[in-house]
Amino acid sequence: MKLYNIKDNQERVSFAQAVRQGLGRKQGLFFPETLPEFDNIEQLLSESFVARSSKILSALVGDELSPEQVNSMVEAAFQFPAPIKQVKEDVHALELFHGPTLAFKDFGGRFMAQSLAAVSDGGRITILTATSGDTGAAVAHAFYDMDNIDVVILYPKGKISPLQEKLFCTLGKNIHTVAVNGDFDACQALVKQAFDDEALRQEIGLNSANSINISRLMAQICYYFEAFSQLPESKRDQVVVSVPSGNFGNLTAGLLAKAMGLPIKRFIAATNVNDTVPRYLDTGEWSPKPTIATTSNAMDVSQPNNWPRIEELVKTKGWALEMLAKGAVTDEQSAQTVKELDDLGYLCEPHGAIAYRVLDDQLEDGETGLFLCTAHPAKFKEVVDEILQSDIELPAPLAKHASMPLLSSEMENDFSSLKLLLRKVASQ
Ligand SMILES: *Cc1c(COP(=O)(O)O)cnc(C)c1O
Repeated sequence: MKLYNIKDNQERVSFAQAVRQGLGRKQGLFFPETLPEFDNIEQLLSESFVARSSKILSALVGDELSPEQVNSMVEAAFQFPAPIKQVKEDVHALELFHGPTLAFKDFGGRFMAQSLAAVSDGGRITILTATSGDTGAAVAHAFYDMDNIDVVILYPKGKISPLQEKLFCTLGKNIHTVAVNGDFDACQALVKQAFDDEALRQEIGLNSANSINISRLMAQICYYFEAFSQLPESKRDQVVVSVPSGNFGNLTAGLLAKAMGLPIKRFIAATNVNDTVPRYLDTGEWSPKPTIATTSNAMDVSQPNNWPRIEELVKTKGWALEMLAKGAVTDEQSAQTVKELDDLGYLCEPHGAIAYRVLDDQLEDGETGLFLCTAHPAKFKEVVDEILQSDIELPAPLAKHASMPLLSSEMENDFSSLKLLLRKVASQ
């Protein structure tokens, strides 16, 4: 697999380098030079999740890793299903929250851990990542107790749900969690600054596990295929996919799936009121506003860092950006939608509900709608219980962590403090 840096096309890297480095020069994202295209999609869809995903990922990785090796990585990473559930006629939920941390980020996080282990030269690695809640949990659990790898996770203090925090800030060992006085964009900016510091990068073997790491996006391509495999063949050419978006990694992966031959008719980019992308698609002007805290906090991102990949893909495929439909949903509307779905007999949390809202508003006759449910409702128990006046049950992994003490440290939104902390972790 060959990738280039979107900001500096001269920089070319292998899959191994892209996984190890995360970001390229000038904070540029890596993008595949070529994308394999499958011509016999029906045949591919008839295979099992693991077998099919191994083929997709092996085609992407190319000859850097053997198909057997990729297969065993996929077997280790994808140990839980991605079922679709019919919510009403022609509308299905794609449930991506059956992994150990109950959000779709388990797919990317776990495959990235496998990838990094596969390409590692045995040296020490420090993974630094910023999270708006769910990435942190997925990455922490995926890398927990791995040899020679330390994980440092920055998150906005007081801006993630208490249960989310419990899920990844209670592990200890090689997992170091840091509550930063600032919002998610501030955490993300600190991470980028660290990657820009070449000396620091070398010194502590810095790596990222954000959705900027290409291995995470690659893993996510696979569940779009999996969703299609569960739809009746007669419906597969009219599928509209609605993606609740924050950093836009999930939507990037969906577009990559389409580029590889999956016949997705069109996409909807659904956001909360942090609507930089919907406004951009409307006006052509990129004008991020300060981030606003919402009940769908994993999408409280106003400077989505995967967006350049979407532009790049659309450009290289000769697609029109107009093929992306969009919609932004307020907290009131998403709460209303959680109720609406509950009346349909489907328990959903705000992120998934936002995707459903825009999909249901825009779905046309004859189309089949698929909305991505990115987190288990219990992961947002406080919000969901308040909306539905319910007391939903915690699944086992959450219940276990809910009673454990928090192990996070606190930090000002300040790069020199981060440097100190990283050096301390790496020297232990
Ligand atoms: C991360 C996350 C999102 C946003 O996904 P992106 O790939 O960043 O757009 C949506 N919902 C949940 C529950 C998440 O954790």
